[in-house]
Amino acid sequence: MHVYNFSAGPAVLPKAVLAQARDEMLDWHGSGMSVMEMSHRGKEFQEIAHQAEADLRELLAIPDNYKVLFLQGGASSQFAMVPMNLLRGKSQVDYINTGIWSEKAIEEAQRYATVNVAASARNRVPPKVEWELDAEAAYVHYVANETVGGVEFHWTPDTGKVPLVADMSSNILSKPIDVSRYGLIYAGAQKNIGPAGLTLVIVREDMIGETLPGTPTMFDYRIQAEQHSMYNTPPTYALYIAGLVFRHLKNEGGLSAAAERNRVKADLLYSYLDASDFYLCPVARDSRSRMNIPFTLHNSRLDEEFLCGADDRGLLQLKGHRLVGGMRASIYNAMPLAGVQALVAYMQEFAERRS
Ligand SMILES: *Cc1c(COP(=O)(O)O)cnc(C)c1O
Repeated sequence: MHVYNFSAGPAVLPKAVLAQARDEMLDWHGSGMSVMEMSHRGKEFQEIAHQAEADLRELLAIPDNYKVLFLQGGASSQFAMVPMNLLRGKSQVDYINTGIWSEKAIEEAQRYATVNVAASARNRVPPKVEWELDAEAAYVHYVANETVGGVEFHWTPDTGKVPLVADMSSNILSKPIDVSRYGLIYAGAQKNIGPAGLTLVIVREDMIGETLPGTPTMFDYRIQAEQHSMYNTPPTYALYIAGLVFRHLKNEGGLSAAAERNRVKADLLYSYLDASDFYLCPVARDSRSRMNIPFTLHNSRLDEEFLCGADDRGLLQLKGHRLVGGMRASIYNAMPLAGVQALVAYMQEFAERRS
C-alpha cells in the first residue's frame, strides 16, 4: 500500500532526497564519513553549508544585502528574537492576527514591546484597508500562512518605510516571493524545508546590530551573521538535508514550477470540497492556503470513522489540530499530486457510503 503523509509538521520530504541521503549515509562523497559525524568547521561540511546557502539564494533570488542564517530554536524562538533585535530604540510594534501562530508571536512580543494588533480576523486575511498601522512602529509582523487555520496571504503587504517581518514557516519555498519587500523572513524547517531542528532567517543587513540590553549572544542576529551561523555547532545534519531539498527544488524547475504544482494540487481538493455538501471548508476563498487545507464533515460524529478509513488506505495524519478539530490535509511541496488524488477519491467514496 502506498502511504501519503498529510502531517502538518514535521512533514513529508521528497523521496528522491531521502534516497540520496540513504545512499550517502555512511560515506559522504568518498570522505569515509557520514555527514552527521563531520566537524562543522571541516572542509567537507563547510562545502555542504556553502552550497546550501548558494542554492537557497538562487531559489529565492535573495539580494546581496540580505543575510541568510541557519539557526536553531524553531520559529518559536524567532517570536522573541525578532523584537529583541528589531526594536532598535523603539517600543511600539504592529502585529496582524490571523490565527494561532499570530497569537503566539504576539504574546511573546508583548514581553519586549508594546504590541498594537493592527488587524485581526479568523478564516480570512483582513484586507489592507482594515489595518490600523502605527507609523512609529519598529516593524509590522504577520504570519504568511496560518498552518492551523489554513489562512494564507496571497499578496505582500505594503508597509511603506516600516520594515515588514513575516513568519513563513509553512509556505516558504512554495512559490516565488520578492525578498526585497521584507526586512526579515523566518521559518522553522520542518514544514517545507527539511527536518526539525533547523530555523531559517533571512534578514536585511541594515536591520541588525542593535539588540535589547540582556539579549543572549545566541539570539543576536549580528553575531550569528558574522559567524556565518557557526557561533556554536549548527544543526549539521538538518542543514545537509535542507541543502538536498534546495537542490531538488532547483532541479524540478525552481519556485515558479513549484507554485504551479501546488496550485493544481490545492485546486483539486478545494473544488471537490466546494462541490460537496458532505464536507465544508471554513476559509474564505481569497484567503485559502495552498499548503494546509482544513475541512470538516457536516456530521462530526463520523470524524472517527473517516479517519480510521483514511488510515486503512495509507492516508495518514488527517486529523485537525487539537485546538480546532475536524480534518486538515497538509499538502506541502513534497506531497505528490497522486496523494491529493487518492485523498479526494477516498473522500468521495466515504461521502457516497455515508450520505
Ligand atoms: C510550526 C509553526 C511555528 C512553530 O514552529 P517551531 O519550529 O515548532 O517553533 C510557528 N509558526 C508557524 C506559522 C508554524 O507553522
